[in-house]
Amino acid sequence: MKSWFGSYIESPGAEPVEATVLGVEKKITAGVRNESGATITRSWDIKDIQASFDISQQATRLINTKEPGRMILIQGKDALQFINEIQAEQNASWHKRKKVREWGGSLVILFSILLVLAIAYLLFVPWLSEKIAARVPVHTEEQFGDAIYDALGLSVQEDARATALTNDFFRKMNVSTAYDIKITVVKGSTVNAFALPGGHIVVYSALLDQLETYPELAALLSHEFTHVNNKHSTKIIFRQLGSRIFLSALFGKFGSVTAVMADHADNLKSLTYSRKLEKEADTEGLALLQARKIDPEGFVRLFQRLKEAAPGSQLPEFLGSHPDIDNRIAYIRERSDIVAEENIQLKTIFEQLKKEP
Ligand SMILES: [Zn+2]
Repeated sequence: MKSWFGSYIESPGAEPVEATVLGVEKKITAGVRNESGATITRSWDIKDIQASFDISQQATRLINTKEPGRMILIQGKDALQFINEIQAEQNASWHKRKKVREWGGSLVILFSILLVLAIAYLLFVPWLSEKIAARVPVHTEEQFGDAIYDALGLSVQEDARATALTNDFFRKMNVSTAYDIKITVVKGSTVNAFALPGGHIVVYSALLDQLETYPELAALLSHEFTHVNNKHSTKIIFRQLGSRIFLSALFGKFGSVTAVMADHADNLKSLTYSRKLEKEADTEGLALLQARKIDPEGFVRLFQRLKEAAPGSQLPEFLGSHPDIDNRIAYIRERSDIVAEENIQLKTIFEQLKKEP
């Protein structure tokens, strides 16, 4: 605390009155006696004060920017120094605070940019990969599919007789497509089927064993066919292998994309499609059945059998990602509006398939 003798002027032209002036922390307080002898005080924040030295009076002159017209005069320079020091400190700390704020602001901006980039990367690369996938020509998809199929080494487990009959069954369904659909029945205890890019459809014998009527097989093949025909498998593989595919494709090296796919073949037989793609495979598959007057209940029975057969974790491809069977049965039934006719050709092939060789 500092104290000085001085005088206080209430307004321009008013008589100066004697004042005791205190400098405490960030305030200057002048105590004066008014006409009736009572002490009144004027307390000013130092930050609001403009201090100057009046040479003629050899006094420090204080005016308050918030209370214009009032003035405090203090003899000597001591008060001026005191106020200057405090104001210098206040300015310095304000600069410091400002700098911290600026830095804080920059960090927030930097963090936001990184966040946006991360989100863009996570969303954009899969999105772009899918866009690229949609433009991959059929013969390139065939190369991908063949590479994956070979890498899986499934041909040693192939059931040649069932393979021939199942391909014959699908051909008799007369589905027109740009793809050369190659169905392979593989001996195995997995209740599963999956589609690869370019036309390979793999069906495990354990799944065939579960089927009891030909519309169920027609439903199964139509569903997997739609994954091929609508490039679902290619899109999902591009999405799954994301940036590696993206970079290779960007530089136009589909050969190296094929290599990447072969390396990851094992993951690619348990592809999980999005709910949207799965529904597309169901509904377009159903449309194929309806156009051929094949009983749409084939789909419903297929789902029910798979649900019963699937021992929990070992869910087949089209139950694995979205096991909401009841919902799928509901939308299949909603869309089923034909009177089915028996297809003797398909029925005969199916019966041969089910017969022990
Ligand atoms: Zn599916």
